[in-house]
Order: sequence, then structure tokens, then C-alpha cells
Amino acid sequence: MLARSRPSSLPWLPKDAIPSPHSPTRFTLAVKDNIATADGHTTTTCGSPFLSNYRSPFEATIVSQLRARGGRVVGKTNLDEFGMGSHSVHSAFGAVAQDSPEQLAGDVKALRSAGGSSGGSAVSVLLGEADVALGTDTGGSVRLPAAYCGVVGFKPSYGMLSRFGVVPYANSLDTVGFLAREVRPIRELIVGDGTTQGLWAEHDPNDPTSLTPSARKRCARSRQFYSPSQSPDPSILNGLRLGLPLEYNIHELSPTIRDAWSRAASLLQSHFSARIIPVSLPSTRHALSAYYVIAPAEASSNLAKYDGIRYGVRDTSVENDAAADGVLYASSRGKGFGPEVRRRILLGAYTLSSKAMDNYFLQAQRVRRLVRRDFDRVFALPNPLVDPDQQVFDLSDLPEGTIMEDKWGPEEVDFLLCPTAPTLAPTLGEVMEGGSPVDEYVNDVFTVPASLAGLPAASVPMPVEGEGEGKTAGLQLIGQYWDDARLLAVAEVIR
Ligand code: GLN
Repeated sequence: MLARSRPSSLPWLPKDAIPSPHSPTRFTLAVKDNIATADGHTTTTCGSPFLSNYRSPFEATIVSQLRARGGRVVGKTNLDEFGMGSHSVHSAFGAVAQDSPEQLAGDVKALRSAGGSSGGSAVSVLLGEADVALGTDTGGSVRLPAAYCGVVGFKPSYGMLSRFGVVPYANSLDTVGFLAREVRPIRELIVGDGTTQGLWAEHDPNDPTSLTPSARKRCARSRQFYSPSQSPDPSILNGLRLGLPLEYNIHELSPTIRDAWSRAASLLQSHFSARIIPVSLPSTRHALSAYYVIAPAEASSNLAKYDGIRYGVRDTSVENDAAADGVLYASSRGKGFGPEVRRRILLGAYTLSSKAMDNYFLQAQRVRRLVRRDFDRVFALPNPLVDPDQQVFDLSDLPEGTIMEDKWGPEEVDFLLCPTAPTLAPTLGEVMEGGSPVDEYVNDVFTVPASLAGLPAASVPMPVEGEGEGKTAGLQLIGQYWDDARLLAVAEVIR
């Protein structure tokens, strides 16, 4: 609605139809290339030289689930190698951009970043090459490209969608997410469309982090699932409490984005009678550093298996005998990984080393708990995974009756409303000539808090005014754990 666009829907199955693996095409689907496809002709490269010829013997559950709902895979999309990056420039296949070089007379530096790491997926829906695209979101990789490209991006609650067949980057943070031009197709896939079961209900026994059916039932108990077959009524915004987190109003926030954010808030208040409530999430300022300790630590351990022997392209210039195993390993990894991935591995190996562990990895885990606690304090709904007595956050199947009412504070808001990124999309010139890698990491400052807490979040485009007229800023909605259906309904109205 803010973007004044019409909702679009997928041409879903007729009533009573049961999705089968051989369903006719209902929508076209692009798949990020760190998600396994096994159709005999596509590779799954993760944008890495190491996996440049890798063909998966099995398919990711999420791809099969979408094929069963009538999705036809039209292509795999480019990404930052193993999902590590914010601009989709760290790929063995070259950089992604949202403009075509012809538009800008071949001036590559003037092309705008598509965001990362699911930049290829965002561009595929922006250009209409796919109705829906799959991405992965570990610290913002679906939401940031959505914001830069002016499309919709959705990261579900951690543990909702199966990650079986998704190449892990940082297991405790990785989620599969969706990109599309409108919210509706995403909402229909998650919640169901009245004839097809929503993905929110599907447990995958192959993924140990996929919530069990009984945990799903318990989580859903205090959550509303709106009638999935109709567009949500704008009246759901009436009286809805939207929190504006003060700590997101940072010095680095561009005035254009700040203006779009405050216009959205006033519009929602004046036209839809939403209640705008300033809230404080004090641990937010430490979230980015905690993320960039935890994610590389998990990555360094995940990527240890790429040795050029069992996994990945082998460096054939090295003698293949037992004595040379270490050399083969080092040399294959040195050639197989790009510079950003090597940097993350070194960073992770350091923060996990015995001398640095206490100061970095364990501190970051503490910050992560504080970030979660901030969210639980401001949301009106309780977090069904948290036991306030022990203050544990446990994704295993909790015993019956562990939904806790105590939220460490008074009831406050239904959703948080904030920008997705601190600036509009920079140009590739700005990205590549930018100073240190930290300049790139700063783009994730508004997306990592929800990732650390495992919360659902969506980015919807909001037109900007003044400087940047004609472009859109990403407006982010963050919800309490497992409040995905209501979040998507609200996002659909806002859009
Ligand atoms: N930009 C972040 C990183 O590089 C997030 C990536 C992601 O969500 N996959 O780690």
C-alpha cells in the first residue's frame, strides 16, 4: 500500500487438488546456488571455485516442497561465496548488480549493488525471471538484497523451514528465506492458500533444527493464523502496536532512509490507526560485533570438511600420497576458497582458539542472549522457546506446558518497525573501493539482531522522497518467534 502497488497472487491449485511431485507449473522459482538441486543438469556451487563442478546427489527439502506446490526451477542464482558477504561481489562467477551494464554504457563502477548474499535471487525476481526466489538469510542475506533491489524479502523464524540440502554457513543462524515482488505469494507458501498446506506446518526429520510437530503445535497455540485464502484486511493495523527501536536511529543512517522510516510510521498511524511506540533495545549496539564473532566461528568449523580429498576440487599439482596430505589440504583450500571466505575462516579459527575463546566467542554468546532478552522484553507475545526461570533458549522439543507468560517486563508492542539497511544501494564502485571489510559488515547492522534472536523479519519497499526520488528504501518488520503468519499479513497490508 505504501508502494501503491496491487497485490499479486500465484495461480494456485484448484480447490481440493493435492500437490504432487508432478504438479504442473504454477510459478517459476529461482534457487540460490547454496541450495541443492538434483535434476541431472544443475550444479550447486555456492559461488565457490572449490565446488565449481559439484552436483548434489540429493535435493534440498525446501526445493522438493516447492516443486510439489507447482514451482518450476528456472535457474540457480549467484551469491557471495558460501553466503558470506553483503553485496554479492565475492563470487567465483563475478559480481551481481541490479542494473545491466548496457543501461550505464558499460560503466561497471556505476552499477548499483544488488545486496548480498542472495543478490542473484533478488535480481531474478526484480527482472521478472522468476515469480519467487529462494535465498538464505544468516545475518540478513535475504532482507538486504530485497531492500536494495526494491522487492520483498522474508526470513522466517529459525527452525520453521527445512535446511536439509542447504549448504551450512553458520548453523545456529542459517535460515531459508523467500524473495518476490509482492508479499502475497510468500504468505501463501508459508501459511497455505486454503487448499495447499502451509510450509510453516512441515517438520523435516532430516533436519535436526527443524521444529518437531509437537513443538510447532505448541508454538502455534498463542499465534494467530489469518485466513490464508484472502488478502488481509487493513483493519488488522487498527490499534496494532508498532515499536520504533531508538537504537536503530544511528549516526550512519542516511537522511533519506530516516525520512522514509518516519513517513511510514506517521502514515501507519494516521491512515491505519496503528499505535507507534518508541522502544529501547539497548544490546543492539553490540549485536553486529557478536554476529561477526559467532558466524565466522561456526563457518570455520563448517568449512573444515572442504579438503580437496573428500569434498571440493583437488589441487592436482600436489603429490597425492599420505606424506603430502597436509600440503594437499592446505594447497587445495588456498586455491579453492576466495579471499573473503579465507578471512572468515582465519577469524573464526582465532576466536575459537583457547587463548581467545573467553574474550571473543563466549562474550559474543552472552551478547546474543542479551539481544534475545531485549526482544522478549518489548514484544507483547511471549517467546514460546524461552523458559524465564532458567533463561535458556532451547530449540529441542520442550515438555508440554512450557509456554511462559513472563516476558521480563510489561507488555509493549506487536512488531518492530525499522529500516532494513542504513543506506540505499551503493554502487559497485563504492563497494569495491570501500576501505576495510568492516565497511561491508556495517550494512548488516539492522538485520543481524533478528538473526541472533531467531526471529521472523520481512523487508518491504517504501518509496523515498527528495534525494533518491523514484527509488525505494527497505522497511523492516520484526516479529516475536513464530508470529510469522501475522507478520506476513501486516507486511502485505503495508506493502
Ligand atoms: N552479510 C552477512 C555475512 O556476510 C550475512 C550473510 C548471510 O545472511 N548469509 O555474514
